[in-house]
Amino acid sequence: MREDNGERITYEGGRLVVPARPIVPFIEGDGIGPDIWRATRRVVDAAVTAAYGGQREIVWREVLAGEKAYQQTGEWLPSATLDAFRTYKVGIKGPLTTPVGGGIRSLNVLIRQALDLYACVRPVRYIPGVPSPMREPEKVNMVIFRENTEDVYAGIEWPSGSPEAKRLIEFLNQELHQSVDMSAGIGIKPMTQRGSQRLVRRAIQYAVSQGRRSVTLMHKGNIMKFTEGAFRDWGYEVATREFGDRVVSEDQIAKEYGGAVPEGRVVIKDRIADITFQQVLLRPSEFDVIAAPNLNGDYLSDALAAQVGGVGMAPGSNLSDDVAVFEATHGTAPKYANLDVVNPSSLILSSVMMLEHMGWHEAARAIDEALAHTIARKVVTYDLARQMDGAQVVKTSEFASAIIDALKDGASSEIVTKEG
Ligand code: NAP
Repeated sequence: MREDNGERITYEGGRLVVPARPIVPFIEGDGIGPDIWRATRRVVDAAVTAAYGGQREIVWREVLAGEKAYQQTGEWLPSATLDAFRTYKVGIKGPLTTPVGGGIRSLNVLIRQALDLYACVRPVRYIPGVPSPMREPEKVNMVIFRENTEDVYAGIEWPSGSPEAKRLIEFLNQELHQSVDMSAGIGIKPMTQRGSQRLVRRAIQYAVSQGRRSVTLMHKGNIMKFTEGAFRDWGYEVATREFGDRVVSEDQIAKEYGGAVPEGRVVIKDRIADITFQQVLLRPSEFDVIAAPNLNGDYLSDALAAQVGGVGMAPGSNLSDDVAVFEATHGTAPKYANLDVVNPSSLILSSVMMLEHMGWHEAARAIDEALAHTIARKVVTYDLARQMDGAQVVKTSEFASAIIDALKDGASSEIVTKEG
């Protein structure tokens, strides 16, 4: 559908249809958001121009959320913003401040829940030259699928001493024969079969379609048997029922295949959360796609980001069955707001994921290569520079300019121009 000077991205027969001039809504974000967004937008526009020579163009449309929305409309998250993501199917956002003392728990959580963005996908991949605490960082290549709508993030909790907490504790103690201290704060951890299985299904679909080696179900099911333990069981169930001939469990490998993974199968395994944190450090090559409940996935994302340069290098996407919102993993880093110093790579790499999602692979590859080239030249922002010898420290905007120069100089020359 044509609007203004752009067109809507649509779905036809379950497939994303991307016009030559798609309208893509963006939220600039709070704190460092405007700095990293400006840098990202320049890089994406330059890559699209380099890849398609003016035959394709993203028509950016700003939508409001966070402090800017509150100042302009009196609302933290206007419904028009959610409507825009629903209408245009693909969007991108900077980080948002969680308003202190407001009625909203977290704008990010609210966006994910309102749009049912149930899968948070965070690739963790090493770019040569990035400082890393790992001995062999090139072995780090994982993709986390974090459940995004349930678990303790559902926000069902009451403070210690509140009437609600007391009522619940009385119920637990009297009706269910527990012995919870009356002074406890109470939080609820709901996890459903549907929520767990659609996340695991998405992770396995990705692993199968991308030729990945394994999907690890990460859980703390030895302690939280009916939430995290159920996540594991429901995960295996969906793997067996829906992907029977494409996957194989560790148990099957041992009993039916003499210890060898049969050709073309994705290994489905599970690991308890605590040991996962050790093994991703000591034996990273044993992990590929990881499917995790909400809180485990959140912790693991930042821990893994540290292996490949920190949160400034960590991209992400939030997916429903039809809407995709791309965002950096980190927050608003308020002490750096408007100083033009932070690393925009997290949002730039999120835009690479966005372009890949749109099928604009040439532009995505161009950015990937130009970013890697810039880092290899040791032209970096402060966060990477403080861990490197002989780096040239540049501002956020200068880092973007260096990527754009690399795009124009080299990376773009290998790109095949396609018809829009
Ligand atoms: P943060 O904003 O992620 O910042 C923590 C630290 O991470 C920064 O001080 C900085 O470390 C480093 N960092 C973050 N982004 C960076 C970048 N682009 N380049 C280089 N270094 C970067 O976490 P926070 O201070 O805990 O949270 C601040 C606000 O953000 C809160 O209101 C929180 O609710 C919100 N938040 C939003 C999102 C989201 O929108 N998705 C996610 C998380 C948090 P150094 O000081 O060591 O340089």
